[in-house]
Amino acid sequence: MKKHTFTFMGTAAGCGVPSFFCDCPACTEARENPACRRGDCGVMVRGEKTLIIDTPPDARHQLLREGIRTVDEILFTHAHFDHIGGLGEYEYLVQLVQKRPMPTYGSVIALQGILAEFHYMDYCLDMHALEPFDTHEFDGVHYTALPVTHAPGTYGYLIETPETRMFYASDTAKLPPETAERVRGCDILAMDATFWKRNWSPNDHHSIQECIEEGLALDAKTIYLTHMCMHYDEPITVAELEAYLEQYGGRVRAAADGLSFEI
Ligand SMILES: [Zn+2]
Ligand SMILES: [Zn+2]
Ligand SMILES: [Zn+2]
Repeated sequence: MKKHTFTFMGTAAGCGVPSFFCDCPACTEARENPACRRGDCGVMVRGEKTLIIDTPPDARHQLLREGIRTVDEILFTHAHFDHIGGLGEYEYLVQLVQKRPMPTYGSVIALQGILAEFHYMDYCLDMHALEPFDTHEFDGVHYTALPVTHAPGTYGYLIETPETRMFYASDTAKLPPETAERVRGCDILAMDATFWKRNWSPNDHHSIQECIEEGLALDAKTIYLTHMCMHYDEPITVAELEAYLEQYGGRVRAAADGLSFEI
């Protein structure tokens, strides 16, 4: 069976780890150890072709790190800065190399938001709106847009290959019931785990504890925590987080920038 590789391009919430303005233990750990650094959230699925979900502000560094020479399609979860801020890096790929507009998918609201921010790039985006529960097939993988609990028009994507059913939702509070039912029992769940302990925005995000609780309740076989800020009330270092996750015996894992696996 043809294999695809899933890669976490970035795994941070909002301001990244380290945040330039922060000297907490988590940010200090990341300054000292590059393996603990996190750029804003995005993922990549590579088979014969390369699809990217979201274009965070760190897109250029992430693409360089992974040795990516071209991207064939872009899916968007939503149009917040931490997920679209790097879209401008693709203008030159389109202009100089591909010479055709980039196929770009997302909700109507997300696409409108992207055009509002990047109006000068309308000529290099070939936009296709996805309605909730629409499935888009690309390079042998099915991507189903599932509504999540975040800004209006935000999607998580159910990613299905012949071997793997996985759900990627970087930004969400508790999943809406219809989405939860579609996701139940998935092989891999990569989900919003923004806050350690107290959830500062319970209508839009999970805490790490809530992400784990919901993932276990959904019978996900493996749960990856992503969109993590690692600081706020009480910072948590990667070393501390990994020690905390030991109780789950490998079922719950912290995502990391550059972490890849086959799907
Ligand atoms: Zn910090
Ligand atoms: Zn957001
Ligand atoms: Zn976000």
